[in-house]
Amino acid sequence: MRSIRRALPALVALAAVLAPAAHAQESVLNLYSARHYQTDEALYDNFTKATGIKIRRVDADDAGILARLKSEGSASPADVILLVDAARLWRAEVDGLFQPVRSKTLDSRIPAQLRGKDGGDGSQWFGFSTRARMVVYAKDSVARDDVDTYEELADPKNRGKLCTRSGSHPYNLSLFGAMMEHLGPQKTEDWLKGLVANMARPPKGGDTDQIKAVASGECGIAITNSYYLARLMRSDKPEDKAVVARIGAVMPNQASTGTHMNIAGGAVARHAKNRDAAIRFLEYLASDAAQGYFANGNNEWPAVAAVRPANPALEQLGKFKTETVPISVIGMNQVKVQQMLDRVGYK
Ligand code: FE
Repeated sequence: MRSIRRALPALVALAAVLAPAAHAQESVLNLYSARHYQTDEALYDNFTKATGIKIRRVDADDAGILARLKSEGSASPADVILLVDAARLWRAEVDGLFQPVRSKTLDSRIPAQLRGKDGGDGSQWFGFSTRARMVVYAKDSVARDDVDTYEELADPKNRGKLCTRSGSHPYNLSLFGAMMEHLGPQKTEDWLKGLVANMARPPKGGDTDQIKAVASGECGIAITNSYYLARLMRSDKPEDKAVVARIGAVMPNQASTGTHMNIAGGAVARHAKNRDAAIRFLEYLASDAAQGYFANGNNEWPAVAAVRPANPALEQLGKFKTETVPISVIGMNQVKVQQMLDRVGYK
């Protein structure tokens, strides 16, 4: 009895030492990110300034992050994940790499079609920006009317003109998965076969490389995410201005299914050690200020519709009809699409 009483002050002192230590442990957030844009740095700095939570970042592409999460399992240090493709977000959820989040802030700020399905205990991922998969063409050799639908890109009238990055890249897999919802499997495979027949060269490089190849005359038509085009449109470099001067841009399928959209989004990792900080970070990304940075910094549209930062390139692209295929459907179609790509020889 006596010894416990004598030990009490020491215990209190120990607790006082331990409390800040436990707090210090909470003030780090491990972020696995597939986004690599300079403006995102400012975003993370602002979060640290506002909350005292430091961000430790691991950079990789979507596939690399998913593979890493799987191999690390419950030992993974990851708290928050940022990916740049809707179907990959969906796939990670299906594979059990995320956990549900119930947040009034996120549920009210992020539209339901840009979130994972709420299974009763919240969504498992949240979109923070959107991008369009659009078409650019050589103004001097291609008529706009010949390329204003995705379907027409496979038409024999466009033989020898098309350039794209790899068919298996997530941006293309998502577009093709959405097309399968519109056309059905047989017509989709025929369409993919037509795309391959229309290629000016085998797929190589990223979207920006395709745009530049249209400007140089190597290709007549290319498929690109909107922000790569917007980046060139906003560039002060004479060589970029020359590229933009030679190309036309189309938001496809305005008279039918709408232009295919993709998203960049985030989630809390299944085995997050800093769950509260992770949710706080996602809520921060949904704030007006962060939405402006996150989307505008990469010339994307913010997920929060009320936030519309001034962006001359996006204003020039204008308003347009967007596609509404559920992300889960796009994700589920991708296995079949990949098999079709193998059959038709779309590298
Ligand atoms: Fe990209």
